[in-house]
Amino acid sequence: MKTDSVIYKNFEGISLEEIEEDHSEFSEKICLVGNKISMNDDEKIKVIANHFEGIMEALGLDLNDDSLKETPQRVAKMYVKEIFSGLNPANKPKVTLFENKYQYNKMLVEKDITLYSYCEHHFVPIIGKVHVAYISKGKVIGLSKINRLVQYYSKRPQVQERLTNEIGEALKKAVGTEDVAIVIDAIHLCVASRGIRDTNSTTITTYYSGKFINEDAKNEFLALIK
Ligand SMILES: [Zn+2]
Repeated sequence: MKTDSVIYKNFEGISLEEIEEDHSEFSEKICLVGNKISMNDDEKIKVIANHFEGIMEALGLDLNDDSLKETPQRVAKMYVKEIFSGLNPANKPKVTLFENKYQYNKMLVEKDITLYSYCEHHFVPIIGKVHVAYISKGKVIGLSKINRLVQYYSKRPQVQERLTNEIGEALKKAVGTEDVAIVIDAIHLCVASRGIRDTNSTTITTYYSGKFINEDAKNEFLALIK
């Protein structure tokens, strides 16, 4: 839940309400240290670059080497601006809805959405596909916005189960319908490249809500994404 110690600054252009909503949404789920959210991107990059330099030094790497000396800064920038940019509520995609003019009231499936996320236990990639379906209650969402929502929640240190639920809940809210289904099929590099080193297994998680709890709708969706 939101804590009183959080300082809301450096979020120009979005309302306090939006920040509070988003902050409470993910802080209870991913254990953010409250006051870190008050840093702006440049401050975060500076802090992370310093720490990453420490990691490289501890590993015995030569930070004077031409090839390595910019690495701490590069990694820090990549964390904040790219692969973990979904930790910043300011980056949440604005969702535009359209009238469902064609009275299309069957399921809409967007399949094989590319997934790049990062395992929060090892900070190595989770790579896979996300399949999404919803049944309109009068409004439809721009198709690319579904991809953007998937990307936003993926760009955080994640566990696949939570990512699946977050995308499901966000889509329900965005489209204003309970009738949403999500399937994620992904390879975890912490399983493939280290530890057990299994390069064949994938992890599948599902989220079914509203009409998709019903076997017929669920089976239709599963057949379509085969
Ligand atoms: Zn892992």
